Amino acid sequence: MDNCIFCKIVNGDSPASIIFEDQTCVVFMDIQPVNTGHALVIPKIHAASLSELDPEIGGHLFQAAQRTAQAIRRSQMRCEGINLFLADGEAAGQDVFHVHLHVIPRYSGDGFGFNFSDRYWQKPSRDELYTSAKIIIAGFVEQQPAVEALWRAYTASLPEGVRPPDSYDVWSFGDTEKMADELGQLVQAGIKTATCSLLWEYEVEGDEDMPKGGDVSVITDGQGAPLCVIETVEVEVTPFGQVDEAFAYDEGEGDRSLEYWRSAHWKFFTRMCGSIGREPVETMPLVCERFRVVFPN
Ligand SMILES: [Zn+2]
Repeated sequence: MDNCIFCKIVNGDSPASIIFEDQTCVVFMDIQPVNTGHALVIPKIHAASLSELDPEIGGHLFQAAQRTAQAIRRSQMRCEGINLFLADGEAAGQDVFHVHLHVIPRYSGDGFGFNFSDRYWQKPSRDELYTSAKIIIAGFVEQQPAVEALWRAYTASLPEGVRPPDSYDVWSFGDTEKMADELGQLVQAGIKTATCSLLWEYEVEGDEDMPKGGDVSVITDGQGAPLCVIETVEVEVTPFGQVDEAFAYDEGEGDRSLEYWRSAHWKFFTRMCGSIGREPVETMPLVCERFRVVFPN
């Protein structure tokens, strides 16, 4: 970019005290150092923000920052610790809109520090942390082109005249990568046609997330790779203790017995309860859902 001061440094059109350079990045002294030795690591290719930066290059910038930190620590520069800092966006304190990673030598009493709002001193509840996590996880899933591609393939497979659903959810089974993989495979194999979740969790997240008949979802494995599209057939709220043999069988896990279901699900719901600060009980309400695979079929 013609008017970018950091691009000018990369091109040699503007002076800088360069301490390291390779094919991908340049490291030089900040002209307004927080402490003496404050360095900036920048990519040679212009990227205004993190979202424009190739993640490969981002990884390389971090490696260069690590090496720079090591060099500062081994040098005569006054340094008892290092801060790495990257400001993405004006609200975050970004002033030059060419991504740069600060490497700041620190020592006790250097007068630099962070300012915290009052909010910092009131720790959020586990419920609030859980809700924050759920919201951000949705952002990860939406970045996946493979999910969209599977969805498009599904809608293209619908008979002429059948209107595709306006929206769909993307999710995986269970609460671990392993569970997501194993249960996802059971669904693909047609063995698992039912699932259940804790009603209390929807109360934390808001009722609009409750599954209902006709809902369509893309199911992913533990890595977020799409496996299939399912349609919710029916939804019923049942206390844990009243889940019957037929439902346990349709869940398709283990030997498909009610005994196995109760043991595996008690463990699972104990973890779920823990994440929302509740105790598991026989009467805890479960959202019991039956579904069918609609794509690929
Ligand atoms: Zn630039």
